[in-house]
Amino acid sequence: MSAVRTTSEIRSLAQQHLFPHFTRAEVWHDADLPVIVRGEGCYLYDESGRRWLDGLAGLFCVNMGHGRSDIAAAATKQMEQLAYWTNWSAAHPASVEAATLIAGLAPGDLERVFFVNSGSESVESAIKFARQYFVSQGQPQRTKIISREWSYHGTTLGALAVTGIEKFKTPFGPLMPGVRHFPNTVGEAVPEGGTAADLPSLRVLVQTIEEEGPETVAAVFAEPVQNSRGALVPPEGYWRELRAICDRYGILLVSDEVICAYGRLGEWFGSAKYGVVPDLLTFAKGASSGYAPLGGVLIREELASALLASPQAGTFTHGATWGGHPVSTAVAVANISAMRDEHVLDNVRALEPHFQHGLDQVVQAHPSVREWRGTGFFYALEFTGDRHTGRELTGQQQVELVREVMPRAMSKVNLITRPDDRGATLLMLSPPLVADREVLDELLAGVDAVASAVDAHVRG
Ligand code: PLP
Repeated sequence: MSAVRTTSEIRSLAQQHLFPHFTRAEVWHDADLPVIVRGEGCYLYDESGRRWLDGLAGLFCVNMGHGRSDIAAAATKQMEQLAYWTNWSAAHPASVEAATLIAGLAPGDLERVFFVNSGSESVESAIKFARQYFVSQGQPQRTKIISREWSYHGTTLGALAVTGIEKFKTPFGPLMPGVRHFPNTVGEAVPEGGTAADLPSLRVLVQTIEEEGPETVAAVFAEPVQNSRGALVPPEGYWRELRAICDRYGILLVSDEVICAYGRLGEWFGSAKYGVVPDLLTFAKGASSGYAPLGGVLIREELASALLASPQAGTFTHGATWGGHPVSTAVAVANISAMRDEHVLDNVRALEPHFQHGLDQVVQAHPSVREWRGTGFFYALEFTGDRHTGRELTGQQQVELVREVMPRAMSKVNLITRPDDRGATLLMLSPPLVADREVLDELLAGVDAVASAVDAHVRG
């Protein structure tokens, strides 16, 4: 047994030995680096016993809330029964149950599930499936990928190439060639009397496909609601038009639902909300509510069968030791079953208007809030200098708000959520899907306090 350590020892050892993800040095080396020791429902507790509201569901993933003993029990039972087996050559019941459950909830003929361990790996696997599928169909020249500006699709080198955030990519070049980006939907609406085909972003997509040569493009990747750049809800008909464009050119449509699946938008899958069956659907996060690492790709039946049946392929030449791990998939079964049996999606849909009304009030009360965007339990507030006068934030204010002003204000009200600087100055909100009206009101009060701090800072 390891010795019981004091909080300051834990902090100091973290600073010495634990190399942080996406964290600036001064944050990691802060004397007050938070140490979270326990979670329960929508709340987290730090080492001093202080209670924090988890306004981001971990990292958009703890959909069923923290501290569920039923999910923990499913993991324990699986570990005792069969801690490890593969998804190669022989099946095991936990991953079969999880795949069957997930395919049963997925739209259309998304029938096959390829399990991996994270969102990045799911995107990586979708890129590889698309490429090998086209090899198997005698179209090996179809290798290119098109995705949207400011989109985040993960950190492994293929997923990073597909990501549309330049600052995350520049340290790691050269990346996978043959990736183009087209504008996201920020600020877009279908013109009066027009259709989604008239949206400038989709016109650029068509132009990009034509420029590259449609016969060289393998896949278009997009999130149902794009996280990075601030919860971009698609304009009316956008996804149906994306589907039509991909069909016209024989390109695979990949819906990256690492955030948008498993209830985040009030539906099992985000693409279903927008009336479309994608060819491939990537997921992670909410599939296990964070109780164990799990990601996956849902694949349309005809594509999976065609790859396996083809003489050129016959095998998806891709896999991982932990892919479809028994414990992670048993956790997914317990998690998704609980989500279904406890009608958690109904909770999201029922409380959505209440939450949106609260966000309207925050906007009205604070000149520094440009607008809120989002749907379900997935929102962004975008800040500006003063929306009444049209004054924009200065570059210095943008940095100060995200690094100092918002974190300090959040801490004052015991709120954990995410200030974001990707493409705008944003505050992201993504509470656990089990949050009730009272929790959402507490979250809204916290957001109101953060917006007051932003008002004061940019006014001064
Ligand atoms: N795709 C999307 C849409 C994401 O939001 C994320 C992570 O936030 C990823 C992929 C990468 O997932 P992971 O961090 O599990 O690798």
